Amino acid sequence: MSTQKHAFQAEVAQLLHLVTHSLYSNKEIFLRELISNASDACDKLRFEALADGSLYGDQPELRVRIAFDKDARTLSIADSGIGMSEAEAIEHLGTIAKSGTREFMARLSGDQKADAQLIGQFGVGFYSGFIVADRITVETRRAGLPPEQGVRWSSGGSGDFTVETITLPERGTRVILHLREDALEFADGWRIKELIGKYSDHIALPIQMEGETWEEGKEEGQPGRMVKTGEWETVNQATALWTRPKKDITDEQYTQFYEQIAHDWQPPLAWSHNRVEGSTEYTQLLYVPSHAPMDLWDRDKKPGVKLYVKRVFIMDDAEQLLPRYLRFVKGVVDSSDLPLNVSRELLQESRDVKAIREGNTRRVLALLEELASAKSEAPKAEAEDSTAEVTDVQDKKEAAASDKYASFWREFGAVLKEGLGEDHANRERIARLLRYASTTHDGQTVSLADYKARMKEGQKAIYYIAADTLVAAKNSPQLEIFRKKGIEVLLMTDRVDEWALSFLHEFDGTPLQSVAKGAVDLGELQDEAEKKAAEQAAEAVKPLVDKLKETLKERVEDVRVTTRLIDSPACLVVKDSGISLQLARVLKQAGQAVPDARPVLEINPGHPLVKKLDGHDRFDELAHILFDQALLAEGGLPDDPAAYVRRVNALLA
Ligand code: ADP
Repeated sequence: MSTQKHAFQAEVAQLLHLVTHSLYSNKEIFLRELISNASDACDKLRFEALADGSLYGDQPELRVRIAFDKDARTLSIADSGIGMSEAEAIEHLGTIAKSGTREFMARLSGDQKADAQLIGQFGVGFYSGFIVADRITVETRRAGLPPEQGVRWSSGGSGDFTVETITLPERGTRVILHLREDALEFADGWRIKELIGKYSDHIALPIQMEGETWEEGKEEGQPGRMVKTGEWETVNQATALWTRPKKDITDEQYTQFYEQIAHDWQPPLAWSHNRVEGSTEYTQLLYVPSHAPMDLWDRDKKPGVKLYVKRVFIMDDAEQLLPRYLRFVKGVVDSSDLPLNVSRELLQESRDVKAIREGNTRRVLALLEELASAKSEAPKAEAEDSTAEVTDVQDKKEAAASDKYASFWREFGAVLKEGLGEDHANRERIARLLRYASTTHDGQTVSLADYKARMKEGQKAIYYIAADTLVAAKNSPQLEIFRKKGIEVLLMTDRVDEWALSFLHEFDGTPLQSVAKGAVDLGELQDEAEKKAAEQAAEAVKPLVDKLKETLKERVEDVRVTTRLIDSPACLVVKDSGISLQLARVLKQAGQAVPDARPVLEINPGHPLVKKLDGHDRFDELAHILFDQALLAEGGLPDDPAAYVRRVNALLA
């Protein structure tokens, strides 16, 4: 029988090097990765067998068996799952399909703990075997293929691997690790059991090990030893966690389960586990992770919810089960109503799925509301303690809960905002969850409700400004009058902000108003004297305004006098209905067509520069400089930057 040699794809070789060199002090994770692969392989078989029951052959049992041999220094993980054909083995174990891998490698930091957490997210699981093995042999046979079409894959983990055809009586995959000298601890039943308990307890599949018993030395003075009994024993819980009653599940178990399904080794921020009864029956176990995955901004990323039907795994990332703006949520939905042969197409039309999706959405929002409301969770016993300490304890608890929301918001807030446009039915609820930076609360984020509660007397709108950065937003000339009058303005710096707010016209009856749109109308916030002075100033500069209009007619929609400026000579705004200059820039950068709307130039009649302008012999030059500077201050760039520089230089000279 011939053995063929294949070279690893260059990326694999590089990855192998990195994995083995950066994770050697966190060796044990290899087992969780290989068990997870074995479990996936069983899920795949179960799913394919829904369409073709003959794939099970005469072996209906799905399980993982772990065996070790101290003398031979091997550890093997065998599953009765889908297996691989020769072509599949070459492809799956010789190349890296996932595009995120390059990024993964760039992110490896040298901090082994952090690196170990990254590894699971990137489909490099199999290669982690080389942390503990100097050779890995894989024997595998695809379900449905005859015994003679088994495959043996083998590699020492450097440049290449070999593949040969062998006869294998059983389908599925056996991964045999030839342990390195410094990894012999894993050829030990206790150690393996400990790791299974730690990482793989809730794999909904029996993980079995051969029983061992203590045998006394046969002769006087000869030491006793552990011997195999020949019986396979299941060593994990092997029940789907979500099917167990809530009260029987510890936080630690919930966390472990999360780690398994999300391949994320940082504990989740929060979760919600419910059995929903009624016209559609299902169980949901949904988690909010504590940190954003790297592909969060991928437009095609699907929500990370696995679909099960009556405990049978159906598919990963079932996109119908949650709206896109909750794509950061991970978890499991197990339906009692859907047919087992449900397809992605069918999911789109199913009314049950629609009900599940709505139920999931409500749940996640409720979970976030809980975090956001930061209610004290101090247990009774503590509350009965001496008063001074109680407040202390409660403060801490409140801080912890609100920290959680702050941390959620930092990681996922920008994604949640998409919900304003995507989920009309829940818009109000989403609006209550929004948080923004504020001109009056440096370093904090505030909610719309907070803002509303402290609005000034006579204030009719919630004011906000959107800019590319916090600094640009804070220093925008458009804020001058608001700052002077002590009116709070929300500072928005996410790209999605303006688009999202175009769906939210008011909050709790109060309109939201961009300070960069339309003329300022502070209404009752301005007193009569101020209004009068403004009118007089406007009257006085009317000829100047007309002249500016004429000179800049190609560049502006209008020129008018404003009261919003204190220290700056001019600023740009757009009409009430128009899209802001900031949003227009974002859209343009994203390659989208943007209506060619010209801005309105607003001038500050009290500013020395504006006063000087009238009758100046270089009026035209100054007018253009005034416009370009207003554009710069607002975060834009002049259409013809060189012309701007020329004009300024001419003045300086
Ligand atoms: P991932 O599992 O994240 O895709 P791995 O590097 O762990 O990445 O595995 C690569 C591929 O090899 C898997 O996607 C799968 O197709 C195949 N594979 C790995 N282990 C097994 C197994 N026990 N049975 C069948 N296929 C497997």
